[in-house]
Amino acid sequence: MRPFNVVVLGAGGVGKSALTVRFIKDIFVDTYDPTIEEAYRRTVNVDGQLSSLEVLDTAGADQFTSLIELYIKSGLGFVLVFSLTQEASLKEVDYLRQQIYRIKDGDTSVPIVVVGTKADLSNEREVHATTIKTLASRWGLAFYETSAKRNWHVTDVFEDLVRQMRSRYPPT
Ligand code: GDP
Ligand code: MG
Repeated sequence: MRPFNVVVLGAGGVGKSALTVRFIKDIFVDTYDPTIEEAYRRTVNVDGQLSSLEVLDTAGADQFTSLIELYIKSGLGFVLVFSLTQEASLKEVDYLRQQIYRIKDGDTSVPIVVVGTKADLSNEREVHATTIKTLASRWGLAFYETSAKRNWHVTDVFEDLVRQMRSRYPPT
């Protein structure tokens, strides 16, 4: 079975690695190393059907590089991550979203899920639920509030993306 290539994108420190590792290994890693970039494989059962995923947890520079461009070219589905505790990280998601459509030649049916992380840190919250709901519906994208630490809605993110990818890239 050919895996679906999923690319996890977002500003540094928003929780991309924590989200990815929670999904892949069902543990919470608290060691923040912004330079770690890794691809993971996992088979998931969604709606009674198995799908193989290759999830690329991107890292490094808070700037758009040719490497990121390459990842977007080869990616089939995208997890756009921002932190609910950091308003500025939401702008990065908007930017990445536009870059994806540009690189995919305006294909608006690219599978994308927008993810707000660190929902457990309610005292540090900067992004209102209504703000992101309004934005996500304007963008026409699915959105989840998650916590990798508490394991809130992490699975939902990847299941949503799997359903989108199955429908967008049906087996030939
Ligand atoms: P990345 O640079 O986007 O990969 O960010 P990391 O996944 O390394 O996370 C950055 C920091 O945020 C780390 O110290 C994590 O422990 C912390 N973090 C990530 N997700 C959560 C979460 O859901 N809740 C809390 N409280 N902290 C988180
Ligand atoms: Mg990371």
